[in-house]
Amino acid sequence: MTKTDLLIIGAGPAGCSAAIYAARAGVKPLVAGGAVPGGQLLQTSEIENYAGFVNPIGGYELMDNMHKQCKRLGVEFTTDEIARIQGDKTPFTVTTTDGKQYQALSIVIATGSKARWLGLPEEEKLRGKGISACATCDGFFMRGKKVCVIGGGNTAFEDALFLSQFCPEVNLVHRRDAFRADKITVEQVKNNPKIKLVLNSVPVQVLGRDMVEGLKVKNVQTNEETVIPCGGVFVAIGADPQTSFLKDSLVALADNGLVLVDEKNHTTVNGIFAAGDCADKHFRQAIIAAGNGAKAGIEAAAFVNLHRGKI
Ligand code: NAP
Repeated sequence: MTKTDLLIIGAGPAGCSAAIYAARAGVKPLVAGGAVPGGQLLQTSEIENYAGFVNPIGGYELMDNMHKQCKRLGVEFTTDEIARIQGDKTPFTVTTTDGKQYQALSIVIATGSKARWLGLPEEEKLRGKGISACATCDGFFMRGKKVCVIGGGNTAFEDALFLSQFCPEVNLVHRRDAFRADKITVEQVKNNPKIKLVLNSVPVQVLGRDMVEGLKVKNVQTNEETVIPCGGVFVAIGADPQTSFLKDSLVALADNGLVLVDEKNHTTVNGIFAAGDCADKHFRQAIIAAGNGAKAGIEAAAFVNLHRGKI
């Protein structure tokens, strides 16, 4: 069993920020970031609202910078995926999906959230063949094709803007006529001649046998169904917290799966902290994840310094 003072689960902005603060408080964290460390920011094309950058910065670049900053401070990373946390007090036993075990004095949970899917039967069949939940990753394959984006939040609006750079027509399909996306982004979309708003409409079927050929949508006010010919459908309808690995632990979750934390990012188990989208009901912003990660890192470092030597 590998022993570590502080195990941070997740290598997005919350996990990295926790690691940076803990490292600077004299603790050597180990960050378990999974096979592709970096979280949802890796799928974000441009970020314009992360303070400190005059011009928009790419999500990948921002995460890469955070990982390099962590490494400069002595933080170690592992690609382990965590399956289980056991114990009601320090030290905790943590098991990975391939059966490896860690003993940790303290833990920060910063596992973020995972994209939601519509639940249409074709979604499974045509995933990777024109259906995607990541415009940044798969948009390139849609060059020159008409596409649809589903959703009315920032992700959908930013995806639509991103795709409009290389797709001749982007249909933004939203179930209402009011948006969650912020005003500035909504205005950018409305002023973009390549983006068509298809409002009060829900997807009912993705057409195509081997590749996406169109999207059938239903107007929820008139019940009229229409087909939008397109080669790609990008689903951007929000995300769910990645906390199912905690279901058998003593870390309490809310009904929606979010980790319950207090104002100092303590969970219900003394010595286990949580931050970022896995514990954020309201904001789900990279900068807020980083801020709360810092709080969790400070608290975890204080906890480790108090219990040092127990493993
Ligand atoms: P979101 O804000 O929760 O928006 C999800 C959208 O999908 C909503 O418009 C919702 O419609 C729609 N939707 C949900 N389930 C649906 C379904 N089954 N069928 C059809 N439509 C459905 O999610 P998000 O856009 O991924 O954003 C998540 C968080 O990250 C937000 O806090 C957002 O501000 C933030 N974010 C920020 C940035 C940025 O600041 N640069 C970029 C991306 C995301 P209703 O509106 O009708 O509920």
